[in-house]
Formats: sequence, C-alpha cells, structure tokens
Amino acid sequence: MSKRSLAYIFQHQKLLVDENFQLPKVEKLASDLPIHPNDHVIARDLLEGEIIPDGFQLVPIRDLIQTWSTPDFLQASRAVQLLEWRRNHKFCSHCGQRTEIHDKEYAMICPDCGYHQYPRVQPCIITIITRGSNEVLLAKSAHNKSNMYGLIAGFVEVGETLEEAVQRETMEEVGLKLKNIRYMSSQPWPFPSNLMIAFHAEYESGDIQLQLEEISDAQFFRFDQLPQIPFKGSIAHSMIMQMTEKRKAS
Ligand SMILES: [Zn+2]
Repeated sequence: MSKRSLAYIFQHQKLLVDENFQLPKVEKLASDLPIHPNDHVIARDLLEGEIIPDGFQLVPIRDLIQTWSTPDFLQASRAVQLLEWRRNHKFCSHCGQRTEIHDKEYAMICPDCGYHQYPRVQPCIITIITRGSNEVLLAKSAHNKSNMYGLIAGFVEVGETLEEAVQRETMEEVGLKLKNIRYMSSQPWPFPSNLMIAFHAEYESGDIQLQLEEISDAQFFRFDQLPQIPFKGSIAHSMIMQMTEKRKAS
C-alpha cells in the first residue's frame, strides 16, 4: 500500500491533471488540506518553483465541468473553495493576530482571542421565468461578448428572503413583476464561492425594461425556438432543459 495521496493541486483557478484529466498522486505535506481523509485525498496550491511533472498540465476548473462527472467536479469545487478560504483567513478578522488551522474541522482559530473563522458560501439566486405555457425569459449579459442568453441571477442581500431576492433582481434587471415563485434545486458554484439556488417563477406583469449596465438584451423565447443557452454542466442549462422537457411532456 502506497502512502501517496491523490492531490488537487491548484494554481488559482487552474488544476493540475494528466492528459486524461486524472489527478496526480503525491506525498502528503504537513500543510496540505485534507479533502477526504479516509481516501487520502488532499488539496494544496502549487508550490513556489514546483516543477510540473511530465505529462501534466494546468487546466481551468471551468473546463472540467464538461469533462468530469458531477460528483468529481463537486469535489474539485469543494477543494478549490476551501483552499481559497484558508488563504484568505491567515489573520484573525477580530483582533488581527495570525490564525492557526484547526486540526479536526475546517476552521481557522485565533490563538489570542479564540475567534473561529469558518468557510462561507455566498447565496445566489437564479430564476427561470415562464409566460403562459410556451415562453421563457432569457437575458444576455452585458459583460459577456458571446451571443449566449441565460437566466436572471444575483446575490442575496442581507436581511432578504430568497423569494424577495428573486423578485428584486428580476425587477432591477428586466423590470418585470413575478408570481408563483417556487424552489427548484441548488448547485455549488466555485467562481469564487457561490451556492446557486434555482427558482421557477411565472410572469405576472410589466414590460421588459433593461438595466443596461447588466443586461444587453432580454426577450421571451418560445421553447421550440431557443437561442444559444449556457453550457452543459451549468445550473442554468439544466433548468432550461428541465422546463423544455416538461413542455414536451405536457
Ligand atoms: Zn483574534
């Protein structure tokens, strides 16, 4: 039995894999972050001056969504978020002292004042809006140069329910009022540390008015005449596909 561990080795949002997108096996270092202790899976950043072994390459984790299975991608996503969190919490945010790594749980502890810092996720809503039985609202981001149409999404604000966030974002970005807002599903999204919470809502009233800093175009499309939609593996893709299938079935 080898003592080597499977390693997620990152350089920012890129991951070290071989030409078949498999992880390397390496000796565990004291500072490595355990990802799955029983299975000897660890994560760390590429060390300063570390040489990339023959046959290995750094690949953006975004590209792995379409190559890896969902459980494999989620584990990589967890690894990159935990490393990012550890890198950003080297000091106590309460008193400024250098923190220590907790030996049993994911926590950075202040030896001086005892303050515990835990990994955080950012809740982010994403909404598929339908009108009648055959139309869906899709919007083109002003930040994206491609011709892809996606869904209304945004961060939940302090003191707000998820449903209020769905209504507020929709009102801000396209000026529409919604009804029957219902939860669908969720997906962790490591860019950088979001939890995407998916809703279905129905159009109630209003004309489309674009918030031009965010949205360059938005339209109701028929389900059988969809434009280019977000890539497979994204929650937006699966939401749109799920609604399309539902329409076909009914
Ligand atoms: Zn402290």
